[in-house]
Amino acid sequence: MSVTVRNILGEKGRDVITVGPTVSVADAARVLYHNKIGAVVVVGMEGRIVGIFTERDLASAIGRLGVEAMDLPVSKLMTANVFRCTEDTTVNELMGMMSSKRFRHVPVESGGKLIGIVSIGDVVKQRIREVELEAEHIKAYIAG
Ligand code: AMP
Repeated sequence: MSVTVRNILGEKGRDVITVGPTVSVADAARVLYHNKIGAVVVVGMEGRIVGIFTERDLASAIGRLGVEAMDLPVSKLMTANVFRCTEDTTVNELMGMMSSKRFRHVPVESGGKLIGIVSIGDVVKQRIREVELEAEHIKAYIAG
């Protein structure tokens, strides 16, 4: 049976830090800093996902616009076309998506509602656990 996003959320929890599209880039940066996270999901009316803003976007904004970027609304610098997954997405599918699209965060949706977020760190942790478990099984098998 393949390991899915449901397994990851079961371990890490379902909290997602969000901001509204009108908050400033400076405030979004504060949210990243205070929560020790690399991405915030930008949500509009009724909690609908309207974008994602990550530390990469913050670095690009400063590189491109300098400190001026800090006062802009996050909606100007977020990525609006957000790739999402469901709880049934497998960890393998998720790894494929993250590596082909070159991003490290994927929000999880169920029935149009935001129910979690998975980062590349969560995926790596899960893969290490799987590999360790496999090694244990093989050792136990060899030992008879
Ligand atoms: P990251 O590697 O997650 O920091 O993101 C790198 C770039 O991809 C940034 O411009 C993000 O806004 C964008 N990005 C991150 N996650 C997603 C996603 N799930 N869907 C679309 N774009 C994303």
